[in-house]
Amino acid sequence: MSEEAPATTAGVGQTRDDTPASKPQPRADPGLWLVATPIGNLGDISGRALAVLASVDRVACEDTRRTGRLLARHGISARLVSYHEHNAARVRPALLRTLVGGGSVALVSDAGTPLISDPGYKLVCEAVSAGVRVSGCPGPSAPLLALILSGLPTDRFYFGGFLPSKAGPRREALATLCSLDATLVLLESPRRLPASLADMEAVLGPRPAAVARELTKLHEEVRRGSLDELAGHYAAGAPKGEVVIVVGGARGDAAQPALSDADIDERLDRLLAAGSVRDAAAALSAETGLPRRELYTRALARSRTREECAVDP
Ligand code: SAM
Repeated sequence: MSEEAPATTAGVGQTRDDTPASKPQPRADPGLWLVATPIGNLGDISGRALAVLASVDRVACEDTRRTGRLLARHGISARLVSYHEHNAARVRPALLRTLVGGGSVALVSDAGTPLISDPGYKLVCEAVSAGVRVSGCPGPSAPLLALILSGLPTDRFYFGGFLPSKAGPRREALATLCSLDATLVLLESPRRLPASLADMEAVLGPRPAAVARELTKLHEEVRRGSLDELAGHYAAGAPKGEVVIVVGGARGDAAQPALSDADIDERLDRLLAAGSVRDAAAALSAETGLPRRELYTRALARSRTREECAVDP
């Protein structure tokens, strides 16, 4: 069961709306503080976040140099502890000792909101299990900003993190999302963007979508269009910078009607245009629940027909 923070709690993290965050305060309340940091524009950090970072016992961060620069810009000197995916298991016990002993630790990631495709989940789990209070200073997060800028429905959305980097598993992952009646929010590297968009178009069809690039930075761009338009645009070359892909969900009539043979063939043909017989069968099976073996046989036949058509005009 969740509880609201008591309104009377003193300390830096619990300033009320009418208390200026910049007002000097002694120490952050004990516990683990999850603090969001800018995703590009260094001005995007709250006064409360800065007050917490200035007054905790330790700031755990992915890259001490990067977080050190952010803090220095705001005149904050803090005890920084490196905490990233490669040393987390080793560093976590010491952080927990500080917390269990009544100290305060802030966790930040390189950019955005910690734990969102960034380290921190296990630290939070173990802090909760140890009865440590966990609080947060909310702020920037690239997937959420991309979603609200996309022009796509925001009432229901699904955050899928990074897609698999290899084409086969990526198409299978996309197929599992095919019937989801929610806007899809996915992270991608700029280098893989063209291939990912092509796979999305093959598996999800020509849905409305948006590519949000370099958000809050000098070259911020949100390109909106159907998946086939976007795949066509980026086929010319990978862009520079960081990107989030947002894709419209399955239409509201998601009570999936049974697929006719013609529907199945049409979907298999689309998948075959983008990949192998095996991948096409696996993707459609994951999407529809139809037996993979049957779909494989059918896809093989379609693929042979396609080859014959290609050599016999
Ligand atoms: N925790 C972070 C957050 O809340 O924004 C996300 C961390 S994840 C490791 C990094 C990915 O987020 C990038 O590869 C990119 O997909 C996306 N991203 C981060 N900053 C971005 C920006 N300024 N514009 C667009 N996408 C961004």
